[in-house]
Amino acid sequence: MKHVNIPVFIPHLGCPNDCVFCNQKRISGTSSFHKEDVDSIIKNALSTIDKESTETEVAFFGGSFTGIERSDMLYLLETAHKYIESGEIKSIRLSTRPDYIDVEILSILKKYGVKTIELGLQSMDDAVLSVTKRGHTSKCAIESCKLIKQEGFTLIGQMMIGLPGSNLEKELHTANLICELCDGARIYPTVVLRETELCQMAKTGGYKPLTLEDAIMRTGEALAVFAGKGKQVIRIGLQSGDELYDPDVVYGGDYHPAIGELAENYVFYKKICEKIEKEKLDVSGKTLVIYCPIGCTSKVIGQKKSNKIKLINNLNIKYIKVVEKNDVIDYNIELSIL
Ligand code: SF4
Repeated sequence: MKHVNIPVFIPHLGCPNDCVFCNQKRISGTSSFHKEDVDSIIKNALSTIDKESTETEVAFFGGSFTGIERSDMLYLLETAHKYIESGEIKSIRLSTRPDYIDVEILSILKKYGVKTIELGLQSMDDAVLSVTKRGHTSKCAIESCKLIKQEGFTLIGQMMIGLPGSNLEKELHTANLICELCDGARIYPTVVLRETELCQMAKTGGYKPLTLEDAIMRTGEALAVFAGKGKQVIRIGLQSGDELYDPDVVYGGDYHPAIGELAENYVFYKKICEKIEKEKLDVSGKTLVIYCPIGCTSKVIGQKKSNKIKLINNLNIKYIKVVEKNDVIDYNIELSIL
């Protein structure tokens, strides 16, 4: 069965916080939201979906769903639940904050057919959480994750790369904790949006936006942690939209629509180099054959053949051949020399 999400964006509703990096109005491209429209959003989306071959989920994203005024939250859940009862959708997923989770809220979510909760964890480092004004601690995040899992939900942890006060070490710590606590992850390299406190910090020198190179390396390293522990990363980087190319919207942080692929290229390059070293392969002047998972040849070769060129130049390899193989999964490439 194909899986399809019907996304319903809840812009900043119910969120009294102002995380320094957040400008929900800008990122969604919408500044107004009417809960009464949700029924037609779902109905219209369903009319384009082949129900026989598709497993459909309504996904409430943006803002902090469980922080919405209770009557509005119930209205939205009831609206989506109607379609679970009619068999047209399978379940509901939503995103929220760790401090808006408790046993009572989880029992409401369960009753209405919520299956997956995505938690905006962002960082598991208290100094980073404090400087970004997240308004909760890592202890709170850990407890929320444990409670969500205890209650039987699927849990996706969202983390950010390049927040103020963060570094690679703190991001790897966050990725490792998410692996322990969650079923999967999303990774978002920080993009500096205008009209945010982070933008002010960047303008006054209090924050240095990520360069593209740094974003690829740090995202790739986090991705390697998840891959190493068999955890799925369901998305890397913000959903590409016209507004993210608009200099009136984005101040810095080098938004790149293919950041996910670039990070994957990075991990493949790293894995190939590690394997050559571990197996003590003498590749100089030889042809290196890389066996990769089905559909991954372009990721192994890299954008604009960057991985291939680096490997040839750095290791004096004569030629590189990439072969896709059924039994190679994730980043567990195999190598041989001709
Ligand atoms: S909690 Fe989420 S919606 Fe609220 S300000 Fe922070 S990032 Fe934005």
